[in-house]
Amino acid sequence: MNAPVSPIERLHLELPELDWITDPGRIARLSQDFAWFSPVLDRQLKDKRADAVVRPRTEDEIRALVSACARLNVPITIRGSGTGNYGQTTPLAGGVVLDMTAYNAVQWVRPGVARAQTGIRLGELEKHTKASGQELRCIPSTYRSATLGGLFGGGFGGVGSINYGPLGAPGNVLGSRAMTIEPEPQIVELRGAEALRMHHLWGTNGLVLELEVALAPAHPWLESLVVFDAFDKALAFGNALAHAPGIVKREVAFFASPVPDHLAQLAEYLPKGCHAVLSLVDESSEVPMLELMQAHGGTMSYRKTAEEVRKSNRTLMEFTWNHTTLHALKVDKTLTYLQSSFVPGQQVEQITAMEELFAGEVLMHAEFLRNLDGLITCSALQLVRFTTEERLGEIIRMHRERGVRINNPHTFIVEDGKAGGALAPEIVEMKRRFDPQGLLNPGKLRDWPVSR
Ligand SMILES: Cc1cc2nc3c(=O)[nH]c(=O)nc-3n(C[C@H](O)[C@H](O)[C@H](O)COP(=O)(O)OP(=O)(O)OC[C@H]3O[C@@H](n4cnc5c(N)ncnc54)[C@H](O)[C@@H]3O)c2cc1C
Repeated sequence: MNAPVSPIERLHLELPELDWITDPGRIARLSQDFAWFSPVLDRQLKDKRADAVVRPRTEDEIRALVSACARLNVPITIRGSGTGNYGQTTPLAGGVVLDMTAYNAVQWVRPGVARAQTGIRLGELEKHTKASGQELRCIPSTYRSATLGGLFGGGFGGVGSINYGPLGAPGNVLGSRAMTIEPEPQIVELRGAEALRMHHLWGTNGLVLELEVALAPAHPWLESLVVFDAFDKALAFGNALAHAPGIVKREVAFFASPVPDHLAQLAEYLPKGCHAVLSLVDESSEVPMLELMQAHGGTMSYRKTAEEVRKSNRTLMEFTWNHTTLHALKVDKTLTYLQSSFVPGQQVEQITAMEELFAGEVLMHAEFLRNLDGLITCSALQLVRFTTEERLGEIIRMHRERGVRINNPHTFIVEDGKAGGALAPEIVEMKRRFDPQGLLNPGKLRDWPVSR
């Protein structure tokens, strides 16, 4: 008697023309992201695998796959480039990983707006927008490999958020084209706030095919490192630079000692034990920036013009946000990290208080940005000398007790990360509408049953 055909085998038989990845090693690799930054997630997720990975090239191929998965009740985990940090692309219930990277065309670029298929890498999209003197409003430090859909589904913001806030700030994402997960998939155009209801939901409440994003004018960015001998002076300079309304900027990051000692590739510019501010300012803003630096007692140790950056293909952007953590982990594997946000107007006091409280255990790395209300504050990605999960929990609690918000990067549950504990009713409604069978990335929403 023949063995029964599994749903995954049925998929292969029904859709042989799709680009299936069958090598077990590649399936294992494409089932993981950068969750290993967290010892907690690493333990929980490292053995989780998809049953198959598929890389569709057209909307018709995506539709055929989604339809078959819905009929056969096969879970789908959408993947961009897998640079997410919380196991966002790791399937908990097997099924198919739907790799979007071959679905990557630019539809159009117009003054102030661009539209593209979501599998496009952000660096590639920006090459297109630069042709008309425009750039993306906020990009993660992983922009070279990360996709547009991955930033929307799993990201927050990054370089550029000092001007435009997080990606979720109204006006940054203008619309999307999304597909429902049903035997007869429907395609829906969503605008404004409705489109944002799929943002940062880890691909659990809709498959986003295209995104329309607002653009910023591109500037020739001067990349620099300014070093200090004192924590307070460096933090005050970063804060002043972030606030200075006439200094045009794209990025301001503060690294308290000993964080700079962990950036081995920049060691020649970062004297041991220094505190540093990394920034990208418009070349025309260099003089006022230098004046501010002198007023705070800093020294510029690294300076590259936009042209030098372009020619060298090396950018300080790849030392910011969670890239700082990545570089530090290369030097010291016992580190992990936190993500926190400070009360606007109190960031200097709160950062200073946390430094005093956790000196030597929680190493301060803060990124200046505008929050959703347009107020300048900091988002920190502190390095943590990891000892036990209990101590990590205690550190998180101690921050919260002192009014510092923690977006816990050590959980794979959407509600327990950034969503603030519960899903808003309109998000739940989106889930019901776009994924009625609960097949998208099952197990990531706490209150959504996993049936298989
Ligand atoms: C070193 C490092 C630095 C980082 N720096 C930043 C940073 O500066 N800012 C920041 O925000 N993040 C940062 N991240 C996290 C991550 O790189 C970004 O969020 C990135 O944009 C994710 O893109 P990706 O293509 O790799 O997405 P993936 O990891 O592949 O996917 C992320 C999530 O989006 C979902 N998704 C992907 N495509 C779609 C789609 N088409 N429709 C619906 N859902 C979809 C996936 O299911 C998944 O849940 C960093 C991570 C690392 C490792």
